[in-house]
Amino acid sequence: MLLPRNRSGRSVIQSAIDIKRWQQQPPSAVEARPARCPACGAASCPLGGAIRLQGHGRRERQVWGPASPDHRPEVISVTARRYRCLSCGAVLLVVPRGVLGRRAYSAAAIGFALALWGLALATAAEVRRRVGPAKILGDSAVTGWATLRRWARDVAQRRLFAEAPGPSPPPSLRQSAASAATALVASADPTTRALPIEHRAILGAAHAA
Ligand SMILES: [Zn+2]
Repeated sequence: MLLPRNRSGRSVIQSAIDIKRWQQQPPSAVEARPARCPACGAASCPLGGAIRLQGHGRRERQVWGPASPDHRPEVISVTARRYRCLSCGAVLLVVPRGVLGRRAYSAAAIGFALALWGLALATAAEVRRRVGPAKILGDSAVTGWATLRRWARDVAQRRLFAEAPGPSPPPSLRQSAASAATALVASADPTTRALPIEHRAILGAAHAA
């Protein structure tokens, strides 16, 4: 159950295994092997044939952001698995679900930030305090946060959470954040309805690609 994630132009594939489970028990090369090569479509283990997607080492990948709404933002490291396709030569990186192709922050952290800013109307500085690891940001006082505006811009330009429906007139960045966060909240499990809206955005984002 692996989803190809080729939108960024690089072959990063999200596993079905989430970050927490991946950390507790890193999957073996066999367990994390994608069913097929996202570049050429070759089956990784053709019936009765030799393996086409060969284990190609491991790679440490940092993931930034809070583990849950009540946690302090942190930097964790996960061991991603690399594969090489013997059919087309592509090198693939398999990461836990919730780790996004080119982004250091987890999908959950970005969803949380968009919801805090767009829906809970927190200031950018407050969002930064709750989402950005201190070790990365330093202690400097800030009034804005460029990363947050970039996420909102990426949402508006459909480079992030592209499954979320976007409003047709060009909105403000904060409206973009709000609309993406609303879509993430809507995709969270209905049993989470009693939770604060930004907590539900985290849960929805954890499943988004
Ligand atoms: Zn291939």
